[in-house]
Amino acid sequence: MKFDDFASGVLTREMAKAAAPPAELWESKRGGLVIIECPQPIPCDPCHTSCPTGAVLSFEDINDLPKVDFAKCTGCAMCVAKCPGLACFVVDLTYGGDDEALMKLPYEMLPRPEDGMEVDCLNRVGDIVAKGMVIRVQEPQRDRTLVVHVAVPKDLILDIRAIGVKPHG
Ligand code: SF4
Ligand code: SF4
Repeated sequence: MKFDDFASGVLTREMAKAAAPPAELWESKRGGLVIIECPQPIPCDPCHTSCPTGAVLSFEDINDLPKVDFAKCTGCAMCVAKCPGLACFVVDLTYGGDDEALMKLPYEMLPRPEDGMEVDCLNRVGDIVAKGMVIRVQEPQRDRTLVVHVAVPKDLILDIRAIGVKPHG
């Protein structure tokens, strides 16, 4: 996918919609589907090399933009942990009924979130747009990038792209 009008460094909601999975597949996919928001050519491909199912298609050139075969995505979030740009997210629409969804978000800060913790949900410019609940903290690559599973308001899945964790005490 190419975003020719990308200039500000922050994706608009319309651009984010274009990167989202097709609704008919997404709405029934347990475990969720990936969203990759990577609109500028850079020499980088861990989203592809880390994907165990081939859902992130092979790059012809290292500067290619990632392309996804959503039918192959399992929502495993390996790419979420491996992307150095924190540009991969998984969204599970089958979680939580009409009002909630589960997002699997990269997190590289301290303090470390814990299961059951309430966290701030941040949009692309760091504004707090909602509160979320940590369901699980995943370490798929056993490195410093955690994948935090957070229950969030379903109507904000195209806006929430990070969490903020308040220091303990
Ligand atoms: S979530 Fe898993 S299956 Fe889907 S694109 Fe990422 S690594 Fe591949
Ligand atoms: S790993 Fe991340 S930053 Fe690198 S090409 Fe893939 S989505 Fe873009």
